[in-house]
Amino acid sequence: MVVGRFAPSPSGRMHLGNVFTALIAWLSVRSQQGRMLLRIEDLDPDRSKPQYIDALRRDLQWLGLDWDEEMPLQSQRSDIYDCYFHRLPVYPCFCTRNELHSASAPHAADGSFLYAGTCRGLSAEEIATQVRKPSWRVALNEGCVSFTDRVYGMIREDPSKSCGDFILRRADGVYAYQLAVVCDDALGGVTEVVRGRDLLSSTARQIWLYRALGFPTPEFCHVPLLVAPDGRRLSKREKDLDLEHLQQHYTAEDLIGKLAYSIGLTENSSPISPRELIPLFRWDRIPNQDISIMEQFHV
Ligand code: GLU
Repeated sequence: MVVGRFAPSPSGRMHLGNVFTALIAWLSVRSQQGRMLLRIEDLDPDRSKPQYIDALRRDLQWLGLDWDEEMPLQSQRSDIYDCYFHRLPVYPCFCTRNELHSASAPHAADGSFLYAGTCRGLSAEEIATQVRKPSWRVALNEGCVSFTDRVYGMIREDPSKSCGDFILRRADGVYAYQLAVVCDDALGGVTEVVRGRDLLSSTARQIWLYRALGFPTPEFCHVPLLVAPDGRRLSKREKDLDLEHLQQHYTAEDLIGKLAYSIGLTENSSPISPRELIPLFRWDRIPNQDISIMEQFHV
């Protein structure tokens, strides 16, 4: 059985880009008679705000995107992450942000830095003399990870060369997204991960973790981003495209109708419900080019 998920972060109201991704994830699952999980990613205490957790649930309901089960919040799952963290080859890293940035060039795809492995070889004595609290990195072995994304096709990447040993746990004890997402999706039995293509660059690292932890790897389906006519990515900072604002001007069916039309699922942008779209949904309609959307949303 196909199991998909919504994995929104409660760092603001849902944005048109999140609506688009959630719609595709939902249509894919519902058109295959699968199960949909809601998995709220409130891992980062600095960015997550409790008031947005309820807003996310209400926004999805308002859109008509239902789910079959909600998984516990990530902020309540540290014990689970602990258990998997301890199964991985991890080591403490004492580098400061400045040291990291001066030592390497940003990783092309997502702006993170290629870690040079500075702390990988520290001896027990060297570790004992450190005063800072360490972050914890995973020691990667060399080797390409290859996978076929449903939209972007065959991808080959060697995470040890593209990003180096990456952080699994921050110095303040918070587990990293990369570890939590893999544990949560694997333990939820997720078989297809549908999300924005901004996360394509994390996928090789995540597949590395799936394999290292002995979990079956789901299928990855990255979807294009919605962009402004000048190609700029829309973000949560663009308040006029978040649901708080959009709900004052549009019905859910208006929004769904425009999004469906933008990827050619329908012949015009008339209002339509998610349910009515199920028989029209086809993965081969999803383009691998970002979608310029602004003109359609005069608010
Ligand atoms: N929480 C992420 C977001 O809201 C999505 C992470 C994922 O789908 O793996 O963009």
